[in-house]
Amino acid sequence: MTTINDNYLKLKAGYLFPEIGRRVKAYTDQHPDASVIKLGIGDVTEPLPEACRTAMIAAVNEMGDRSTFKGYGPEQGYLWLREAIAQHDFQARGCNVDASEIFISDGSKCDCGNILDIFGNDNRIAVTDPVYPVYVDTNVMAGHTGEADGTGKYEGITYLPISADNDFAAQIPSQKVDLIYLCSPNNPTGATMSREQLKAWVQYANANGSIILFDAAYEAFITDDSIPHSIYEIEGARDCAIEFRSFSKNAGFTGTRCALTVVPKSLTGKAKDGANVEIWSLWNRRQSTKFNGVSYIVQKAAEAVYSEAGQQQTKALVSFYLENAKIIRDKLTTAGIQVYGGVNAPYVWVKTPDQLTSWDFFDQLLKTCNIVGTPGSGFGAAGEGYFRISAFNSRENVEEAMQRISEKFTAAKV
Ligand SMILES: *Cc1c(COP(=O)(O)O)cnc(C)c1O
Repeated sequence: MTTINDNYLKLKAGYLFPEIGRRVKAYTDQHPDASVIKLGIGDVTEPLPEACRTAMIAAVNEMGDRSTFKGYGPEQGYLWLREAIAQHDFQARGCNVDASEIFISDGSKCDCGNILDIFGNDNRIAVTDPVYPVYVDTNVMAGHTGEADGTGKYEGITYLPISADNDFAAQIPSQKVDLIYLCSPNNPTGATMSREQLKAWVQYANANGSIILFDAAYEAFITDDSIPHSIYEIEGARDCAIEFRSFSKNAGFTGTRCALTVVPKSLTGKAKDGANVEIWSLWNRRQSTKFNGVSYIVQKAAEAVYSEAGQQQTKALVSFYLENAKIIRDKLTTAGIQVYGGVNAPYVWVKTPDQLTSWDFFDQLLKTCNIVGTPGSGFGAAGEGYFRISAFNSRENVEEAMQRISEKFTAAKV
């Protein structure tokens, strides 16, 4: 009999979003006329920028002509895209990142998971709590954890709580950790890491021979000039950090698929025999063997993000979502609800009123306002008592949802 990867059986099989779906369906079955607004989704809603579509159409036409047709491209991505990224996203911000250190991929969710291929199985893993579930689940699948306990915490993972109590800043652990996942701007809390906080992590990593996996999928949403967009803005980060970026949230590529991972050539890890091995070579080998690159058409669309029109259009997209976030923040605050995030991120992290649990608040919002959000406890035990509201939606939906909350919550207080 063929055996399976038993680690998959440890997974708390996709509990959060199916449970949300179940509760929404139960409610709408009973109230078929309710107009439910979903503010729970972490997916963009607005169309692809025109500059990207125009570039894709031109690329499709090239593919239709024998003289410009493209077959397999480089596994690492086309050099013209890697050079545009190196220049605009890194060198322009003073980061020493070369095009050869950038790997184009079909998603940073994928890369966050795939990166574990090149690391050993005995590394101590640290994540924040709450956390983007991909970091945890991919480690569970790879066999890096024990079983989950009643609160969903896996044995063997170091959880670093982030809440209002510590200003959503993960405390550097006293115990030594090897692989550290940091996400800034953060999904789900919408918090960002300051230069000082990042500096402290880089110092810790370099002092302990650890590697930071820095997820900057939301860097385009940073509005505060003092907040680093890249971990390579911090001295020493080239020796301890891998950075993940994506076109999903800044340019609406969630369905188009293009992202990138930066692996500095100065980054090393330890082999069993004690030798220091270049991480870049391992990732290059991994990608060359298991990946065949992103479609030429999609890479052309990504390149167009860096054109003058593309820059304008992606800035407008990001501003649109940030304006949604501002409306959400303002209306909730006026209704007497405590909010965090939503200034440098498309997520508003709400403190549930009246000490409600995340799920109780979910039920209350669904029943009284017909609004769906995401219970904070679904992202980790320390997310209990919080609730994520996403700014990825139409202006109309956001305004209507906030109008409903204003009415219900203001009325409830009188
Ligand atoms: C959306 C998101 C990404 C991007 O994933 P893609 O696979 O590139 O679409 C990465 N990290 C976090 C935390 C996200 O929320």
